[in-house]
Amino acid sequence: MIIFDTIVVGKGLMGAAAAKYLGAAGQNIAIIGPDEPDDVNKATVFSSHYDQGRVQRIIGRDDLWTRLNLESASVYGQLQNQTGIEFHYGVGCLYVSLHKDDVYLQQLPARAEQFQFPINLFDNGAALQNAFPDFAFPAKAKGNFEASPSGHINPRKLIEAQLAVCKQQQATVINDTVVLVEKKNEMVEVLTETGKKYTAKKVLLCAGAFANFLQLMERRLALRLKSETVLLAKVSEAEAIRLAELPALLYDLKTDELEDIYLIRPLQYPDGNWYLKMGCNLATDTIFSSLEAIQHWFRQGNSDRSLKLMKYALHQLMPAIAVEEYFTKRCIITYTETKTQYIGAIDDAVYIATGGNGYSAMCSDAVGRIAAHVILYDQFPAPYKAEDFTPVWEAKEP
Ligand SMILES: Cc1cc2nc3c(=O)[nH]c(=O)nc-3n(C[C@H](O)[C@H](O)[C@H](O)COP(=O)(O)OP(=O)(O)OC[C@H]3O[C@@H](n4cnc5c(N)ncnc54)[C@H](O)[C@@H]3O)c2cc1C
Repeated sequence: MIIFDTIVVGKGLMGAAAAKYLGAAGQNIAIIGPDEPDDVNKATVFSSHYDQGRVQRIIGRDDLWTRLNLESASVYGQLQNQTGIEFHYGVGCLYVSLHKDDVYLQQLPARAEQFQFPINLFDNGAALQNAFPDFAFPAKAKGNFEASPSGHINPRKLIEAQLAVCKQQQATVINDTVVLVEKKNEMVEVLTETGKKYTAKKVLLCAGAFANFLQLMERRLALRLKSETVLLAKVSEAEAIRLAELPALLYDLKTDELEDIYLIRPLQYPDGNWYLKMGCNLATDTIFSSLEAIQHWFRQGNSDRSLKLMKYALHQLMPAIAVEEYFTKRCIITYTETKTQYIGAIDDAVYIATGGNGYSAMCSDAVGRIAAHVILYDQFPAPYKAEDFTPVWEAKEP
């Protein structure tokens, strides 16, 4: 029987990164998770990475997120070279806010100086309009443009690259879903949906929104799982080429119906078509508390109910865009109580890394590195501290 040093549960953005760093340290690794399903009706769990684009920015809302983003982006070039898989596009990232006292913008100059990362501030809508004529912002808009390495990443390709390195390191990559994690004779046993058993000295749970489901842990993490609806606007190849330099956008606005828009220029999707992607928080978003409710959302949730509203928002923002067809897609966001990821040991052999808070594609490499370091050395890599990522548990039912 093979006894792995560590089994990573979840072949998503955090899990694939962590497995790579564990393998790089010489560990004998298995990483277990389902491939992207062809048929959502047959899948038990889903993910937040079935897509072509995720915004990459560098300066986050605090020092911790900024450091995670910077560290992650710093390895992209080497990872692309090592694997020949392209996943990073440094087209820049534009942050725009309509709030009079936007704390992020207020703190930006000091944070930019601390991290030695250049910023380009815009004081009003006209200045933004002049620099980014494809977007339309109200006069009171203020913003900042970050140049490359900010832009966007392809989450599918980033995972593919991380797993390609894992395979180069002789890791065992398994397409299956874990249904039980159990301590047995000083080891951890992992049972999968197809009835296979795997044994390891340690297990790292990177199951994203699904950490509390199936039987991965005895306790439940305090996680808020929110439905996320994305608008895909299909454009012609010519329109995609016209918009090829469009930076990724994070747009902090608030109306009664929606807030916090993000948008990525038209990208080619696996069906060969070009889609511009826009997402946002919606007043109609749902909070899930059961696996069945999430499965229902991914399989037949009514994301189209938001199509008209999101289409209107897109055309307010990009009045000249020529769209051929609109689609909606369903996803899920995992929020933590602490607003940062939960990373750490939950006992002497089982560890957790989850809770992307909607911003952890861009920093998943660093999150994976930290989780791997904790497993290898039982301490956090400086300058990170355990308190930065302490998991919070749901109160036990009385
Ligand atoms: C629509 C949308 C847009 C987003 N946009 C951005 C963005 O622009 N920029 C950004 O930085 N972030 C963005 N995010 C957030 C980002 O995608 C997440 O923070 C990130 O995917 C979290 O990584 P993860 O590894 O924790 O979870 P995931 O990437 O979801 O991976 C979890 C993996 O675990 C697997 N799994 C679950 N249960 C089990 C089990 N029992 N056994 C085995 N495997 C299991 C799943 O199949 C999945 O592959 C967005 C998210 C959504 C939904």
